[in-house]
Amino acid sequence: MKKIYTCIICPNSCEIETEVSDREILSITGNLCPKGDAYVRQEILAPERTIATSVLVANGVLPLVSVRLVRPIPKNRIFDVMEEIKKIKLQAPVASGDIVRKNILGLGSDIIATRSVQAISAADPAKI
Ligand code: SF4
Repeated sequence: MKKIYTCIICPNSCEIETEVSDREILSITGNLCPKGDAYVRQEILAPERTIATSVLVANGVLPLVSVRLVRPIPKNRIFDVMEEIKKIKLQAPVASGDIVRKNILGLGSDIIATRSVQAISAADPAKI
């Protein structure tokens, strides 16, 4: 079966044509460099994705803080991880880079905060 992928590794966005039979890769063409080949092989054999979202913060100057995974996880576990993230409620203050949840679902990826949220009591009232 033929399938075309658009490589997302660099702005060239190469259209890469593949031919796959029973999960065996028969051909990969159209990539301008080896990174495209590696990208497509990963997509076919073990696709991964990352997540960037928000979690609730109690007692913070903002009600939410942005978070992301530090490394991609298997694409088929995205919904499981999102369900876990929905359960998280942090207590302010939160610092950018704080590990919000370590090794989520045992997948080898941590969730970290990507911005800081001060506690209401510590905030400068003029900046709230
Ligand atoms: S195949 Fe190489 S040149 Fe083409 S988009 Fe991917 S990384 Fe860029």
